[in-house]
Amino acid sequence: MLAETTPRKTISFYKYFPIEDPQQFRDDLYRKFEALKVFGRIYIAHEGINAQISVPEPNFEAFKETLYCFHESLYGIRLNIAVDDDGKSFWVLRMKVRPKIVADGIDDPSFSLERVGKYLKAEEVNRFIEDENTVFVDMRNHYEYEVGHFVNALEVPSDTFREQLPMAVEMLKDKKDKNIVMYCTGGIRCEKASAYLLHKGFENVYHVEGGIIEYARRAKEQGLPSKFIGKNFVFDERLGERITDDVIAECHQCGKPCDTHTNCKNDGCHLLFIQCEDCKQKYEGCCSEACVEEYKLPVEEQKARRAGRENGMKIFNKSKDHPLRKHRNVWKSQRMEQGADMSLHHSE
Ligand SMILES: [Zn+2]
Ligand SMILES: [Zn+2]
Repeated sequence: MLAETTPRKTISFYKYFPIEDPQQFRDDLYRKFEALKVFGRIYIAHEGINAQISVPEPNFEAFKETLYCFHESLYGIRLNIAVDDDGKSFWVLRMKVRPKIVADGIDDPSFSLERVGKYLKAEEVNRFIEDENTVFVDMRNHYEYEVGHFVNALEVPSDTFREQLPMAVEMLKDKKDKNIVMYCTGGIRCEKASAYLLHKGFENVYHVEGGIIEYARRAKEQGLPSKFIGKNFVFDERLGERITDDVIAECHQCGKPCDTHTNCKNDGCHLLFIQCEDCKQKYEGCCSEACVEEYKLPVEEQKARRAGRENGMKIFNKSKDHPLRKHRNVWKSQRMEQGADMSLHHSE
């Protein structure tokens, strides 16, 4: 790894299109990107490509040309470029072939991503949201919905996307005559979800182009009122970008209005939860008294405790009784299964 001083652009993109030989596709693309000193994570599957990368600024035009010409389906592909990013998010190029770019649990061979819902741009989203014949459906996880969502959007209350798909169909079964608008953070999940609803016989299916990130960017650019209220959760150090001043969530410890996510300071926990300033003081950034106690132990002793607990913790983590634990499971499954919606890292 060479120390690099060239400025980099952080870019994400995804595209669903049939790739016949993902391994060959991967090897060819890898060679081209490597030559351009592209870093980052890219997943390739029979269903398409999902990438979060950084490109040295001087190579940006060459990169674009390479990508556009690499496959006809990639010509003119929309690139999300992070604005407030130092481009230092990656140091190597990792390109992997996976069964899916977004794990969906669908094993129906007749399901196709060739027919997806219609894209909606920001101004169209605002028009649809006023229409009482339209239902907005949030295809993200609970902790994301909790701090921000489109006005009156339905939450699909499950921990994983694969569980959400059949659940959404069930929840919407009496609404087949309505317009269904699906959305997620960067568009990759709701695009697949829109195809799934069409597959299940829904007719008027739409999705927000580029997800919340692109909606917020365009609404701001065009001076439109934001119909997305609260915060857009993103996986960067801020754990969320404020879209409007509305605080729609509560501190998980005291119940006061609050929408600041944090990770428990105890290294043996790292639970993702919402904590207000007062509770942060009181619990020293931890999620519970038990974690405060452990956090204060000498580092060696903390390590020893964790080592002895590994299995016990896993079992405890499966329990949904502990409201805070539940969030941790969501966080973990999100990272593992959908490590995939990498546009999540972006915050424009
Ligand atoms: Zn609190
Ligand atoms: Zn904790």
